[in-house]
Amino acid sequence: MTGNVVEFGRKEPHASGEAICRNCKHEWAAVAPVGVTQLECPECSTEQGAFKYPFGPAVGDDSYTCNCGSEDFFIMRKSGNVSGEVRCRQCGVEALGWFE
Ligand SMILES: [Zn+2]
Ligand SMILES: [Zn+2]
Repeated sequence: MTGNVVEFGRKEPHASGEAICRNCKHEWAAVAPVGVTQLECPECSTEQGAFKYPFGPAVGDDSYTCNCGSEDFFIMRKSGNVSGEVRCRQCGVEALGWFE
């Protein structure tokens, strides 16, 4: 086929899951295009909402939990360091043992 073909209703990939608002701590089930990380909170109308774990473990999967209870980690390599490290976002303790 030649000519101008306009696609209507093309589906963008969407992520869905539990979201939480950093501003008012409201939790709700959100759906948003993949790549969108700031969600509008239906409770306080700020853009402080974020998916809790759209790509996280499903029921039955293992996930690493820090001793402080947090499941959020930064994976980073400090400038000058040869190897990277994984640190808990909440308490800053390095996450060791999971990959061994
Ligand atoms: Zn809110
Ligand atoms: Zn921690």
